[in-house]
Amino acid sequence: MHPEVSQDHSGRCPDCGMDLVSEESVPTNHSSHDHSSMMSGPQVAGNFLRRFWIVTGLLVPLALFSTPGMNLIGYTDFVFRPYIELGIATVIFYFGLIFFEHARHEIAARQYGMMTLVSLAVGAGYLFSTAATFFPALQVEFYLEISTLIWVLLFGHYLEAKSSTAAGDALAEVAKLLPKQAHLVKNGQTIDVDLDQLRDGDVVLVKPGEKSPADGVIISGSANFNEAHISGESRPVAKGKQDQVIAGAICLDGSVQVKLNQVGENSTIGQIQKLVSQAQTTKPQIQKLADRAAKYLTFTALGVAISALVIWPLFAGQTFVFAMTLAITVLVIACPHALGLAIPTVSTIATRLAVANGLFIKNMSKLEVVKSVDYVVLDKTGTLTAGEFGVTKVSGDDTALKIAASLEAHSSHVIGAAIVKYAENQKIKPVTVTDFRNLAGKGATGKINRVQYFVGSAKLMTDRGFSQKELPQVDKTVVYIANSKKILGQIQLSDQIKPQSKEAINGLHQLGVKVAMLTGDNPQVAQSVGQALGIDKVFAQVLPEKKYEHVKQLQSQGLKVMMVGDGVNDAPALTQANVGVAIGAGTDVAVEAGDIVLTRSNPQDIVSLIRLARRVYRKMVENLIWAVGYNVVALPAAAGLFIPWGIRLSPEVGALLMSLSSVIVVANALTLKRMRLS
Ligand code: ADP
Ligand code: MG
Repeated sequence: MHPEVSQDHSGRCPDCGMDLVSEESVPTNHSSHDHSSMMSGPQVAGNFLRRFWIVTGLLVPLALFSTPGMNLIGYTDFVFRPYIELGIATVIFYFGLIFFEHARHEIAARQYGMMTLVSLAVGAGYLFSTAATFFPALQVEFYLEISTLIWVLLFGHYLEAKSSTAAGDALAEVAKLLPKQAHLVKNGQTIDVDLDQLRDGDVVLVKPGEKSPADGVIISGSANFNEAHISGESRPVAKGKQDQVIAGAICLDGSVQVKLNQVGENSTIGQIQKLVSQAQTTKPQIQKLADRAAKYLTFTALGVAISALVIWPLFAGQTFVFAMTLAITVLVIACPHALGLAIPTVSTIATRLAVANGLFIKNMSKLEVVKSVDYVVLDKTGTLTAGEFGVTKVSGDDTALKIAASLEAHSSHVIGAAIVKYAENQKIKPVTVTDFRNLAGKGATGKINRVQYFVGSAKLMTDRGFSQKELPQVDKTVVYIANSKKILGQIQLSDQIKPQSKEAINGLHQLGVKVAMLTGDNPQVAQSVGQALGIDKVFAQVLPEKKYEHVKQLQSQGLKVMMVGDGVNDAPALTQANVGVAIGAGTDVAVEAGDIVLTRSNPQDIVSLIRLARRVYRKMVENLIWAVGYNVVALPAAAGLFIPWGIRLSPEVGALLMSLSSVIVVANALTLKRMRLS
């Protein structure tokens, strides 16, 4: 609401509690819409509530001393009465000055909106009434009307501030589910610990697709990093020994040991906080429509008010006082309060509903896309399957397994974890690996005693020049171990389909959405999973860049595509898709690339997501239609167009109608609360 205001972190406007919107053109996290003073969301809500109660208290005596109150109780008028009214109204006016403050911001930014209207109405009403107090000939006063208006608006703003705080709280809750653990290196051993256990001086292993948990210096290994969160540039930056890494920088391909020196505020926990505030600042597209409608409404209201002021005295022979009353009623009734509440109330409830259903919507503006997706493209490993591989068979000698385990100790892939665990159980100790590189979607490579080794899929091996004959086909996930000349052994693994996957696919089909599966795994495994789940299209042995191309190809057929994935190899496709959904238990790159995160890693939540988006969008449209539609009738009525038929709105009835329309909008949003998603 105050676009000229900006602060260097996201959050809420301390004055009105509205969310700050980050300036997309600026890569750093500068957000506009804020004042210099710092006030948190709950404080803003508290501020409005306090004002509301004070005004409530003042309204009672004001009502008693107003003309209608006096008539009701039946005492005779006395000389000082208008001055008492003036006194009380002035105090109320003082508590309503906050709206003038907002109007000043609107006008300064040339974004005339509700506050401009409210201030005009309240200001004109107050001045006019004051004049009438001193010149009784004017015969009119609006003290009670403008005070009621201030009262209603304070409450509306309280609700608004409170609801955006509630959404923030819900998001903060869900963010707690996201933090991953860090791999702490201690006495040559690597153990996983919670992020808050890290201390300055600790050494952590950062694997492909993972974020550095804090600032630090690389003490071994090398990798390309994505530092887009700092520099705004997503071009990979190569880093090696002695180089600085910043908390939140994503390791793309290698694995490094980082000695941490800035654990705390700026570490990954802070990053998650940032993610949450970013989530709060994104708005559904439909919000823009509402904002535009509010702007038009403001101008229309001003035009109608001025016309009423001119036309009634000049062409209908009415008094100026009569025309003024109508003009003020117009401004009051057109006040786009319902319009301001229409979308935020729905998105607040939607956010909370989403959180309760395992969904973290990072980017609210994707809601419109989700509701109309045609194709859901799912990754297999880690998305449809549990990603908890068990080793079923090992062939080749012990050194093959040792080599594989040593390399995989640097990998973040679920297959890697399974192999490391298996070797551990066999009492096989991993050895030092240098020049480790992740080959996303295929496997990994690294050197042991200066000899280069490869572990990975059949695709990797054929790429390395080995013939198909050396690679027997089985319907298991197979990892081969090789040096540059020969295949040293193979490990067979099997994974299990998540129990919820079948229901998820059925649910999607029921919603009329087609389902495809993309996997880097071999065609045999892919087919068996695809058949078991009833998936429409299966693509196997797909490399990361090909996942992206498959998505693009579907899009070129005019289809809206949702991509769901967990791995390093899914990130490009997640970004390319119309909407990207990341598995919460997946890698940091995937979570970063996705617009929505499944915090429970349950594929069934995709069905809930689409249902939610459809319902929420419908509510938003309903609210918008109501908020705009009511003005179509109310505005002409307020301007006195229906006077010939005996219908005339007084300012207080106008204020009442205006608040009634807000109540309806809020009540309509609240019906969402009862929605069952699964
Ligand atoms: P999905 O696309 O189904 O999630 P991935 O693309 O992550 O599967 O993996 C595809 C295949 O690449 C795996 O089945 C495996 O054969 C191989 N692979 C990937 N990463 C590794 C690794 N770290 N170690 C061994 N093999 C790997
Ligand atoms: Mg995967």
